[in-house]
Amino acid sequence: MLPELIQKVSLFHLLHRIDINLAKQLQQGRCPYCNGALHHSNYERKPRGGPDKIPDEYLIRFSFCCANEHCRRRCLPPSCLFMGRRVYWGCVILVVITLKQNRPDGPSARKIKEMFGISRKTLRRWIEYFRDEFPASLQWQRLRGRLASAVSNNELPAELVHYFLKNFQSPQQAIIGCLKFLASEQMGSRAT
Ligand SMILES: [Zn+2]
Repeated sequence: MLPELIQKVSLFHLLHRIDINLAKQLQQGRCPYCNGALHHSNYERKPRGGPDKIPDEYLIRFSFCCANEHCRRRCLPPSCLFMGRRVYWGCVILVVITLKQNRPDGPSARKIKEMFGISRKTLRRWIEYFRDEFPASLQWQRLRGRLASAVSNNELPAELVHYFLKNFQSPQQAIIGCLKFLASEQMGSRAT
């Protein structure tokens, strides 16, 4: 169910549409550092792990640059397609860790390599990040307050994905809901 979902271009289409809206919202504001106007400064990425036929426009990471020549800082809107600077699509990371995390019946690391080309080392790094750093992050602290106490901090992000699977009608809606939820507290990051 989830592995098939992240190989559907239609999922990426919907996530791209959400990213367009998130970028529009940010553009309506001003530079957080100097209050200057924001200009487009999008860039292309080549994330891995998704379906083969992803349209080129979905590879664009929306980004803005302050128009003030003394500032010129980059402002990144939150994104549902991209997860920070990681080289895999955000939905792929979310689903693969959920399949694997503390689940003895989940796919083996070898199977995950076969299915998505993700190395054992990369997988371990993601799991360590979600175990050691994410629960203490400001992003999670803020999100935590909006969730039922049934969601445990111990098996993130799998716990979060299962919470959305229970509360949404389809796996696609659940994954999109989960990514939107995470994006709603993404810190304004700088890509410089
Ligand atoms: Zn500025």
